[in-house]
Amino acid sequence: MAEMQDKYGRKVNYLRLSITDRCNLRCRYCMPAEGVPEQSHSETLSYEELLHIVTAATELGIRKVRVTGGEPLVRKGALDFIGRLAQLPRIEEVALTTNGLLLHKYAAALKEAGIHTLNVSLDSLKEDTFAAITRGGSLSQVLLGLDKAQAVGLKIKLNMVVMRGVNDQEILTFAELGLGNPWSIRFIEYMPTIRETSWRKHLVSGADILALLGKHHQLEELSGGRYCGPAKPYRIRGAKGTLGIITPMSDHFCGSCNRIRVTSDGLAKSCLLSERAVDLKPFLQLPVSQLRAILHDVINEKPSQHHFAIDEPSQSPFSMASIGG
Ligand code: SAM
Ligand code: SF4
Repeated sequence: MAEMQDKYGRKVNYLRLSITDRCNLRCRYCMPAEGVPEQSHSETLSYEELLHIVTAATELGIRKVRVTGGEPLVRKGALDFIGRLAQLPRIEEVALTTNGLLLHKYAAALKEAGIHTLNVSLDSLKEDTFAAITRGGSLSQVLLGLDKAQAVGLKIKLNMVVMRGVNDQEILTFAELGLGNPWSIRFIEYMPTIRETSWRKHLVSGADILALLGKHHQLEELSGGRYCGPAKPYRIRGAKGTLGIITPMSDHFCGSCNRIRVTSDGLAKSCLLSERAVDLKPFLQLPVSQLRAILHDVINEKPSQHHFAIDEPSQSPFSMASIGG
């Protein structure tokens, strides 16, 4: 099948694949301080199983895969896996989302393995704020990794989760990183997924972010790319890089959502913010043609939109580390 549309006519061509739920950080907006219960090793799918799922997905039109986590670079064999993924027939783009802590070691190998785009999650350029958000991460180590990634020619996107009173005073500084660097700087609305009380009031809307940027710079609106995700793209006039505003809370982009997700323990989810999931584990022994039929149903049943709301009590809290963001 060249491409697949869900029952609302959305073309689905993008898979976010979490390869581990483990992480070397404990970001406050993602996990509670004590972490989250970890999958046992037997629950985590092997690389063979993950490749089997991706192969079936490519037969339904998936062309881009983003490898995520937890922190994907902490899983043993991740580089070799990425190399095999990039070699699969019909895969056109392999991307990676990482917290950047191990990038100084692996940037060159990632390029070699076939990573096209690297999304680095970075929420502050101040050592103390960065350490507070990540509960102990080293900003200088991430910056060293970014230098290496730039030096080997990886295409870089920076993802900043904006939180009022925490890092919102750095919005402009982040945007201006795109003046001299060919990076895409993306501002993401904070989603109170773990519902930690003190972190629930931090939402800064995409509209407010844009208004602030517009006060300081002339912004040009751009059009999206082929696997265009949820970011609304802009450019500061004359800048080398671009800006993106991602608004899952204030202005959801469900109408153009092109993605599905598979977690490291084999749950297929057609919406990040829906509790609906199909356990693929019982089907992993099936040949690609039959596994494909299961994934077909997952895509077909993609909800028209999410109903996640800040004050909605019905949805249970969840850690993004278990799904991969
Ligand atoms: N560990 C990797 C990283 O941090 O890039 C990959 C997994 S992480 C769960 C993927 C993305 O989810 C990160 O960009 C992170 O900032 C984002 N994320 C996690 N919790 C979030 C939240 N509550 N609101 C918005 N984004 C969140
Ligand atoms: Fe780990 Fe990424 Fe979650 Fe931070 S956002 S705790 S780096 S999985």
